[in-house]
Order: sequence, then C-alpha cells, then structure tokens
Amino acid sequence: MARLNYEANRQKTKVPMPELDPAERAQTFEEVALGYSEEEAVLEARRCIQCPDTPCVGGCPVGVPIPRFVEQVAQGNFARAYAIVKSANALPAICGRVCPQESQCEGQCTRGKNGEPVGIGRLERFASDWAFAHPEEAKGAMDELRAECAAGDELACSIWRGAEGAVSKDLAGKRVAVIGSGPASLTCAGELAKRGCDVTVFEALHKVGGVLTYGIPEFRLPKDLVAREVSKLGDNGVSFETNALVGKLYDIDELMDERGFDAVFVGTGAGLPGYLGIEGEGLNGVMVASELLTRVNLMKAYLFPEYETPVYAGKKCVVVGGGNVAMDAARTAKRLGADVTVVYRRGRDEMPARAEEVHHAEQEGIEFRLLTNPVRILGDENGWVSGVECVRMELGEPDASGRRRPQAVEGSEFVIGIDMLVMAVGSKSNPLIAKTTPGLDVTPRNLIVADERTCATSKPGVFAGGDAVIGAATVILAMGAGKRAAAGIAAYLTGE
Ligand code: FAD
Ligand code: SF4
Repeated sequence: MARLNYEANRQKTKVPMPELDPAERAQTFEEVALGYSEEEAVLEARRCIQCPDTPCVGGCPVGVPIPRFVEQVAQGNFARAYAIVKSANALPAICGRVCPQESQCEGQCTRGKNGEPVGIGRLERFASDWAFAHPEEAKGAMDELRAECAAGDELACSIWRGAEGAVSKDLAGKRVAVIGSGPASLTCAGELAKRGCDVTVFEALHKVGGVLTYGIPEFRLPKDLVAREVSKLGDNGVSFETNALVGKLYDIDELMDERGFDAVFVGTGAGLPGYLGIEGEGLNGVMVASELLTRVNLMKAYLFPEYETPVYAGKKCVVVGGGNVAMDAARTAKRLGADVTVVYRRGRDEMPARAEEVHHAEQEGIEFRLLTNPVRILGDENGWVSGVECVRMELGEPDASGRRRPQAVEGSEFVIGIDMLVMAVGSKSNPLIAKTTPGLDVTPRNLIVADERTCATSKPGVFAGGDAVIGAATVILAMGAGKRAAAGIAAYLTGE
C-alpha cells in the first residue's frame, strides 16, 4: 500500500475510468462508464493532498465534506466514506455520474493546477455503488456513527444526523405537498421526511424522477439506480401520487385548503421545449430532444418489441445544440442506428455540455459541425425532412452571458442532406402552475420568484426551487435548492 501511495501522489492524471469500448457501446444502451474497482478508487483517493483550506468544498453546491470522505476512501473505509457523502448529498450515486464536476468541485481542486484534479465525482460514485453492493457494512458504519455520537463525538453526530436525519417534535404530523419529482423535489421531500414531516410527492408523469428518469439516457444514468434512490425515500415515509398534474387535477389552493397540506414545494422544472423558430419545423422527422428522449428512456422505445412505444430513427440525423441535452439526443439517435452530426453555432470552448459527454460523443463517431447555424429546414414532396440549410458563423464580441456572440458569415450557406432533425436548443418553464396559483409572483419567462436563501415565494406557505426558479440548469443546483427549501419550510412550519 505504501508503494501505491507513493505513486499516486505523483500521478498528474486521474486513474482512468474503465468504460465500454466505443464501437461496442454505440450499439447498446448499457452504461458507458463502468466505475472504479476498490483498488482504483484507493489509488485515486490517494492523489488528494488534504488541503487545509478545502477549496473543493467551496465548489460543491451542497457542501459535501470532500477531503473527509476522500480520506476514508484512501484508507479503504468505504462504508464510512459513503456515510460522509450521504450526510450532505441525498443522491450521491446520481451526482457522481452526472454533475459537471469540472466546473464545480474539481474546478477548484488544488491538484488541478498542475495536472488533473482529483476525480471527486468518480469517488462519490464509487462510494455510493459500493454501499449499495454492501448494505450490511453500510448500515454498520451508520450504527458506528450513531454510537460515537451518543458518546459525545460532535463530528460523528453531524455526519449521522445529516445522513439519517433528526426527527423534530414540532414537525411531526405536519403535511407537505411536493409538486414534481425531479432532484429538487426528491431532495426537499427526503430532507423533510427525515425531520418527521408527512410528505406527499405529486408527479404529472407515470414515473417518478423528473429529468433523471425521462431525460438523461440509460447509458449515462441507469434507471434502476434512480428507482433505488426513490424507493429509499419511500422507506422513509414519503408517498408518491403519479399521473397527478397539479394545476389541472387540483391546484395549489385546493391542496392547502381542501386536502389539508400545511406547506407546498414547487419543483416543476423547465420541461417546455424551445424551438429554432425557422421554416420547416413542422416537417415529419423533425422533433424536439425531449420527445426523442422521453420515448426512448421513459417509455423504453429502444426495447422494441418488448415495449411497443414507436420511435422514429432516421438514417442521417442532425442534432442542433451544444448542451447535455444535445449530446444525449445525438448519442441516443446513434444507438438507434443513425449517422449523427451535431450542429452548434458557437465553438468547442463555448459548448455548455459536460466535457466528458462531448468526449464520449466524439469517441462514438458523432460528427461535430461547430460555428454552424441552421437557417431553414428543407422538406420533400411528402412532407418529410430532406435537408437542413446552414450558415457558417464566426465569434464576435462577448454577449450578456459572457460568451462571444456568434455572427453569420455572409454567403456561406450550405445544405446537409438528412432524414431526421432533433432540436436541443434550451427549454422553458411550463406556465401551468403560474396560471393556476393566484398570488404567486413569476417573471415574464414564467420562472417562479423565490427567496434565494429560504426558497419562499410571494404566496404564504408555498416554496419553490430548481429549474422552475432559475431556468434549465443542473441536478446539483436543483438539489441545493431542495435542501434550502426544506430548511425554509421547516422554519415556516415551526414558526421560527
Ligand atoms: P425536473 O428534473 O425537470 O423535474 C420536474 C418534474 O416536475 C418533472 O417530473 C415533471 O413531470 C414534473 N411536473 C411539471 N409540472 C408539473 C405539475 N404541474 N404537476 C405535477 N408534476 C409536474 N444536469 C446535470 O447536472 N448533469 C447532466 O448531465 C444533465 N443532463 C441533462 C440531460 C437532459 C436530457 C436534460 C433534459 C437535462 C439535463 N440536466 C443535467 C439538467 C438537469 O437534469 C435539471 O437541471 C434538473 O433535473 C432540474 O431538476 P428539477 O427538480 O428542478 O426539475
Ligand atoms: Fe483533495 Fe483537491 Fe480537495 Fe485539495 S482541493 S482537499 S486535493 S480534493
């Protein structure tokens, strides 16, 4: 072990993540990244130099005590490492897989100044997967922490309470309705259940999980893993009503006045798809990414004929966009058998997708046409898409987002022949809740106005967080909001 430590400390790059072979995986929806073995995890954890000022923790929106859990992995105490992660992060197996670590914890890591940062996300995933595979040991670690806490160890108390919760007498029997079941809602529901509230989650779709279930593909985030996290909430007493579209079936006032909920959390996300607004969007074979991804992920169209969900899979597909949604749509279309080209109006450095997803897409043979913008979608005599006319772009001065504004190069139009086009150009908040909730302030873009610290809205007893408040963002930001909202709701219910 001493020898491993010696080598690990000098390693400038992360221990490589074992992955399915690119040629093989482009044919299957199986998970691409396979996860570290115990030995690989220990090696990677030993790259951490335990910085006293813990810059990585500052980069984590839910404040995972990163050096502390990484140290436990380095020492081979995997169950305790998991308890420490879990004390701050309700969904670590999910975050370890999908968080944009490069712009968060790993972006702040000292090791990243001279080489690659510590693979914090990979270690988080490892600890969670290990705990799932070793439930007895995971429970044992929690029992140990409880005993240490009872013996007066404050650090053990904070880890144990964070992971297991501490029921508050003042909250027992208080009823909270949580609308939507994405990461913001799941976190809020979990935190409130841990404090002793009676929580019911209302989800419009037939399955729980929000984007984790219907958006992010199986090959990046296996659905049984999401179901596992959801079932843990069920074990903690959270109940779920699916096929329950709030705003149609009942509105927020009815939930509070007639069904007796003391408080409501709105985590309805930003699932309304954006369009390009160009000629030809109504042609057959043109769709938004959420349609393709929902059919394939939530309704398992890729398992035809076992599942009878129809899905159109063209032979030559263009996906428009440069974010995670575009990468997921492109890699899904590839797995359905299409030759795929991603068209994005800015350059590689400006792509908002996680670096790893872009890298994986390239490995799988997806072509990228950067600095290219579609201006018109062309159709054949039967109303099917036959091509997309694009224009080349160049980058000008930075715009309000700080990114250089793309400008069309005059006379540079050209046509790509296709039989499928997928738009992944952003999404908006659904106006249903805003329209059916008197007294709830929203912005002109239908985003709910909520206090940053407590998530309280303009309507007493109603709290909101996640994409419904800040617009399409990330899983961890939604979870951070869910956690703050739970604290805000607890304070509201106890009259603090
Ligand atoms: P959501 O996850 O959108 O959940 C909202 C839920 O509310 C949905 O289930 C919806 O059906 C339900 N709902 C809506 N209206 C109602 C209503 N009126 N009544 C009842 N229920 C309702 N982020 C990352 O960090 N990393 C990634 O790799 C990543 N990849 C992504 C890939 C795709 C394809 C997409 C679409 C997003 C991705 N994101 C990623 C973004 C991330 O998933 C979201 O920021 C996050 O899920 C937002 O969480 P949320 O809880 O606010 O809402
Ligand atoms: Fe370890 Fe990096 Fe955090 Fe320093 S910044 S404690 S090296 S993970």
